[in-house]
Amino acid sequence: MSNYIDPNWKMSTLVCHGAGGSDPATGAHCKPIYQTSTFAFRDADHGENLFTGKEKGFIYSRLGNPTIEGLEHEITCLESGVAGLAFGSGMAAVSAVILGICGAGENYITTVPIYGGTHTLGQSILPRFNIENREVNCSDLAALEAAIDENTRLIMIETPANPTIRLVDIEECVKIARRHNVVLAIDNTFATPYLQNPLKMGADIVLHSATKYISGHGDTVAGLVVCSTEELKLKIQPIQHDIGGVISPFNAFLLLRGLKTLAVRMDRHCMNALKVAQYLSFHPKVAEVWYPGLSTHPDHELAKKQMRDFGGMVSFILKGGRSAGKTVLNNVKLAVNAVSLGDTDTLIVHPATTTHSSYSPEALKLAGMDEGLVRLSVGIEDYHDIIDDLSQALKQV
Ligand code: PLP
Repeated sequence: MSNYIDPNWKMSTLVCHGAGGSDPATGAHCKPIYQTSTFAFRDADHGENLFTGKEKGFIYSRLGNPTIEGLEHEITCLESGVAGLAFGSGMAAVSAVILGICGAGENYITTVPIYGGTHTLGQSILPRFNIENREVNCSDLAALEAAIDENTRLIMIETPANPTIRLVDIEECVKIARRHNVVLAIDNTFATPYLQNPLKMGADIVLHSATKYISGHGDTVAGLVVCSTEELKLKIQPIQHDIGGVISPFNAFLLLRGLKTLAVRMDRHCMNALKVAQYLSFHPKVAEVWYPGLSTHPDHELAKKQMRDFGGMVSFILKGGRSAGKTVLNNVKLAVNAVSLGDTDTLIVHPATTTHSSYSPEALKLAGMDEGLVRLSVGIEDYHDIIDDLSQALKQV
């Protein structure tokens, strides 16, 4: 039974082997689904010793479960962290990081734009608990630094950002966070550990909506957090345990399964997205294409510096604005008009009225989200078919 992992293995190898090898209890090569809520104590002393931490072992699946632990080990290994925590959704992961780091009377900064749920949490829910969310365009490093004060505890950045696919310079943010003794968390959902490793660049926490590329098949809602220190884990884990947004063993299994093909899927997503972005950028009805792999993208050089490839997400604006965008959405046949991203299948969506509908018109403008913006999550189909589909839909405009 081999449980060997070499941290120097390449990412394509780590995604296959990172869960730590065969199951110690049975030798099962794939991590079994431990579908149980509770674990029997051998005797009363055993139960007491587990609760007081004198013995290691499982008590109750909200507090720990072997399938979930396998997933937490694997994502920790892929993100080069110290401790991983798995959640029932990306938003459970986002909120656990914020609640673990910030208390009443304190504030945290998020970059603009940021996923609609993260925006709503910061603008509408957490103020009720006297936690302030300052939204700042963190590409403007001076503005980021100016927004920090003595009560700032956390900077949370999404790069590439949903849905503008703009980037933030992680290494520059690390310098600012260090200067002010503030925790830096990176939402790595769009890049995945295959394309970007923020902890290696000095960030403190990485988080994911694992619903997306990590699962990869559009069949799971889940979230992940990886901490660079045990101390940070100890701040976030009580929120996982006692607010209780944990992942189920079955969904943890699905993520472990999805991770095995992360490298091959991401290579295909990246290749297809570049082809689609190039096609759109020469189309007479398209006004703008936002894809960091295009040399015209304002963050192309930064993407080359901090990512291994440019990802599978492409946003574009049609010359006919919002109504032209709607025509495309109504006429695609292969692409599915749906929220979410990172699935094997190509998905197309109008962010201003769906994923980012919680933004006011002013906030949309401030975030650089044109009303006509259409977001494509380019799948792993044959790219000729994706392009043919867009082409026939664009003819209807
Ligand atoms: N972060 C990003 C970048 C997202 O795109 C999303 C969802 O789309 C989330 C977080 C929230 O994740 P979930 O929907 O899994 O709760």
